[in-house]
Amino acid sequence: MKTSLLALLLWLSAGRPAVAQSRDSLGGKVKTYFPAGRARQARAYQQLVQEAARFYEEALPGPPFVVGLNVRPTTPVPYYDDETNRLVVGASKQAPQLFQPADGSSADTVDLVAVHELGHYYFYTLHPTAIPTKWAGEFFASYFAICYLETRKGLSMRPSAPAGPLPQYRTLADFERLYYGVGGPNYGWYQGRFAALAYALYPKFKTKLVKIAFAEYGPTGKPPPPTPGTPENSCSQGSGALVENNAVAIC
Ligand SMILES: [Zn+2]
Repeated sequence: MKTSLLALLLWLSAGRPAVAQSRDSLGGKVKTYFPAGRARQARAYQQLVQEAARFYEEALPGPPFVVGLNVRPTTPVPYYDDETNRLVVGASKQAPQLFQPADGSSADTVDLVAVHELGHYYFYTLHPTAIPTKWAGEFFASYFAICYLETRKGLSMRPSAPAGPLPQYRTLADFERLYYGVGGPNYGWYQGRFAALAYALYPKFKTKLVKIAFAEYGPTGKPPPPTPGTPENSCSQGSGALVENNAVAIC
């Protein structure tokens, strides 16, 4: 199962599967399901995802985006479920967020990680792409999101500079080995570093980097390169360490 591992993070943090049933729906390009009393936020999420999907269809020509959206009352972190082909987002205003909108905006603020999950849909389902490492899969999902968010004033997943003590895990090798198992806050720290890298690269590459990823790893692209060995052995002299302060050393 290649369901976005954010889903698994959710399962771990909640200690049980999220089973809330949606009761209502909104028609449109991205059919949206939501529980009673959450129509406003469901509309806000639907608007975000539909507008993003239209942007990508124009910027990255190919098959149309056909994906559903499930708004649940208690899902703390959005995820993409490739088995049901739905983005799953939470409607609780108290839900923790990995990223905040740049302007801290309105009451109907939605978690912009939903667009990152749309990136997982793109690389998992719309254009199955065998990105060879977990960290790169997460990086490209954020890069994909940033391609859209940078066209929308006031919408950003740009992380703030890390504050407080350094997390326990900070290397790409640890991320490959443990993935969501690094734990929620540490996972958010990694995602912040990947987003920082994406924002650093976006001005030069724009949507071209998404096309390069698909050309390299997609079904019509080159075969994946041979495995260079374990992540621990693929970097020398500890060069796999992620560097703090918004810089990322990629070995
Ligand atoms: Zn992700």
